Amino acid sequence: ERKNSKGINMNIISESEPFFAALDKFKDQQWSAGPIVNGETLSGETIEVKSPYDTTQIVGKVAFANNQASEQALASAHNAFGSWCSTPVEVRANALQKLADLLEENREELIALCTREAGKSIQDGIDEVREAVDFCRYYAVQAKKMMGKPELLPGPTGELNELFLQGRGVFVCISPWNFPLAIFLGQVTAALAAGNTVVAKPAEQTSIVGYRAVQLAHEAGIPKEALQFLPGTGATVGATITADERIGGVCFTGSTVTAKRINLTLAQRDGAIIPLIAETGGQNAMVVDSTSQPEQVVNDVVSSSFTSAGQRCSALRVLYLQEDIADRVIDVMKGAMDELTIGNPGSVKTDVGPVIDATAKANLNAHIDHIKQVGRLINQLELPAGTENGHFVAPIAVEIDSIKVLEKEHFGPILHVIRYKAADLPKVIDDINSTGFGLTLGIHSRNEGHALEVADKVNVGNVYINRNQIGAVVGVQPFGGQGLSGTGPKAGGPHYLTRFVTEKTRTNNI
Ligand code: GLU
Repeated sequence: ERKNSKGINMNIISESEPFFAALDKFKDQQWSAGPIVNGETLSGETIEVKSPYDTTQIVGKVAFANNQASEQALASAHNAFGSWCSTPVEVRANALQKLADLLEENREELIALCTREAGKSIQDGIDEVREAVDFCRYYAVQAKKMMGKPELLPGPTGELNELFLQGRGVFVCISPWNFPLAIFLGQVTAALAAGNTVVAKPAEQTSIVGYRAVQLAHEAGIPKEALQFLPGTGATVGATITADERIGGVCFTGSTVTAKRINLTLAQRDGAIIPLIAETGGQNAMVVDSTSQPEQVVNDVVSSSFTSAGQRCSALRVLYLQEDIADRVIDVMKGAMDELTIGNPGSVKTDVGPVIDATAKANLNAHIDHIKQVGRLINQLELPAGTENGHFVAPIAVEIDSIKVLEKEHFGPILHVIRYKAADLPKVIDDINSTGFGLTLGIHSRNEGHALEVADKVNVGNVYINRNQIGAVVGVQPFGGQGLSGTGPKAGGPHYLTRFVTEKTRTNNI
């Protein structure tokens, strides 16, 4: 009933040529965005949106939501809940299928926006739209499967027992800048499919992508009252909407610290006890033993660490190399890093684009300065000419003695490498688990029993053996972790919608 979107195959000229021609139309486009309340775009004081790869380039302007807009959005979403919740699930699902089609029709604009507003590479932009499409279709199908008919439960003769799943109310969806379309729409479409109305707050750095996504959702038939859009900062809009007693749940992707803050807000506010679905950070490791194939390891290490400039919560941060193979892997890795092209994400040749903003760059550079003191530098690339106006951080690999020197996640192109002795593997596993994070784990080994044992003992949500550890595919590798990495359930997995619904049994003895 459902297939994953194919994306664009850049190696097939008949696909890539028209794609680049269409993409080109958006290279100088200026967008404007603002809060969308009941389908109307509200005006207000605007800020200029500058490209992360060249801050002299303006992408457009955005008006952030004020308190009045937030109040109106919450009140309308609250009023609209009854009608959306009782809309047949097939109708809700059809609107999401239509949204998937519209995303594909508008693919080039959305990819151009991901490149220009979020600094994503073209390949990342293609994957981003593909994932957003997959989320729409996946949750449409899942909602029909789960909510199409009540589940019949056993009981004495004459009594009819049924279990119904229904939406919970207004879901607040707060999404990150690193997947401004896919995670934004993943949260929103899951909540809508399950019968909730939505107040969506995008990351303030990527408001325009979110704005276009909401316009397309309305065009696809999602009622304007059922989906409200409030761009703004976490401290203003985010704090207001999560503290509101009318909301029925929160879905959040971002830092662990913010997730905990939201949890506290939910606990302290008046109103019902409601769920928080949080997908947060990681301190992701890859464990490589001496049976591995160094070239394959390096390929997967480089893509896991430096794709998207390391700005994925799934990205590899700590590479454990068994000492017998360490020198060889490090040697090949140095060369592979040297091959990376850093630069304008709008060029198809670019492997590593900018990081999101000046704050991210400053924090990453501070960590780089520190870790070069604590550890031993393996390789640090130079920033090429033409990157001076952007927020660029050059990929770096540093050897350190223990994962314990990393007191937090560093969300950028920084790889830490640790050598281990075969006999110390249990300690490696303990050390990884002791971070408290549990998102992704990579394993490289040709000894299957060994690989499966490590997979079993490390507490994470997503394990990848003999491949890279990023780019989870909807319905194939449901994504999400445990511990400090999030609450679950996994996005793009069969249980995700369960947290967006409430259950009701009806026992009928007429
Ligand atoms: N799902 C993405 C991946 O597998 C990561 C999501 C995130 O960074 O939040 O790479």
